[in-house]
Amino acid sequence: MSTPQLSVVIPVYNEEQGLQALFDRLYPALDKLGIGYEVVFVNDGSRDRSAAILREQFQKRPDVTRVVLFNGNFGQHMAIMAGFEQCRGQRIVTLDADLQNPPEDTGLLLAKMDEGHDYVGSIRRQRNDSWWRHVASRAMNGLREKITRIKMTDQGCMFRAYDRNIIDAINSCKEVSTFIPALAYSFARNPAEVVVGHEERAAGESKYSMYSLIRLNFDLMTSFSLVPLQMFSMLGMLISVFSGLFFIFLVVRRLIIGPEAEGLFTLFALMFFMIGIALFGIGLLGEYIGRIYQQVRHRPRYLIEAVLEQQENEKPKRARKPKAATEPATDLFADGDE
Ligand code: UDP
Ligand code: MG
Repeated sequence: MSTPQLSVVIPVYNEEQGLQALFDRLYPALDKLGIGYEVVFVNDGSRDRSAAILREQFQKRPDVTRVVLFNGNFGQHMAIMAGFEQCRGQRIVTLDADLQNPPEDTGLLLAKMDEGHDYVGSIRRQRNDSWWRHVASRAMNGLREKITRIKMTDQGCMFRAYDRNIIDAINSCKEVSTFIPALAYSFARNPAEVVVGHEERAAGESKYSMYSLIRLNFDLMTSFSLVPLQMFSMLGMLISVFSGLFFIFLVVRRLIIGPEAEGLFTLFALMFFMIGIALFGIGLLGEYIGRIYQQVRHRPRYLIEAVLEQQENEKPKRARKPKAATEPATDLFADGDE
């Protein structure tokens, strides 16, 4: 396989029901583009037959298929990261395995890149997701834009195209918690967006619960902005100014009117409010510190069990042993940089 023009990276987690339908539409759609391509599937530790189905598909189309098998479930964004490190195309498109974005629209993204954009995001034409996903994602989009200054109309849509330069930049990032569209955006010189189709999930169900969506949004906020932390110093300053004024008022009142004993519950209410703010602040600190802690441990971000790819003819066949994608933590002889 010489360097393909296009790499399509697809994370797969428990998608056994929908994979065949994906193959049936993806390969013809890419063939139609008339350019050299490869498809990189990353199996994110599926517990169903997905890995076996991907192996079969690799046997059928070894010329254009590569499969990365993870050792466990490391999450969609880590799976895409691994795909980025394995892919070789000049342009890279990420696509979900559930056929929510029609693979036939890949041409739209590439056409936009031809206009000179190095990063093309996408906006779902009419979303076919549950109503709470609509509402939540609308709210998060607004909040994110305020806090991170990253402009994406539709942050939840992973159907995006990236130029090789951006992928190289992303590959040089070793961060543990990240949000790929935002990371790419921060490296993009000339980003653009196009409208793409959106369908109901072909089969299976969404892998994101309310909880994992909240985690993901915390990743997005904390990885790309310190504003949430700075908000607390601002708030702290405001509160101290107000309580200072309040104190002066109380002293003056004490001197003019005399001591007061009432208003006890007002005080309680005020206290609880402050304690709530303080606890939230501590929790937010925890979110950042937790991520710093994960980062300083230098653990591999994901572990690859095997990579299925066609060996190039001129190269001798080399067995690819399981390896960590970043510095293996177990390598005793590596000169660590710590
Ligand atoms: N996915 C993954 N690892 C995970 C969760 C999801 O690789 O831990 C993949 C999943 O197989 C799919 C894509 O990420 O290809 C998007 O997931 P899903 O369709 O469940 O998300 P939604 O469309 O509901 O946002
Ligand atoms: Mg989906």
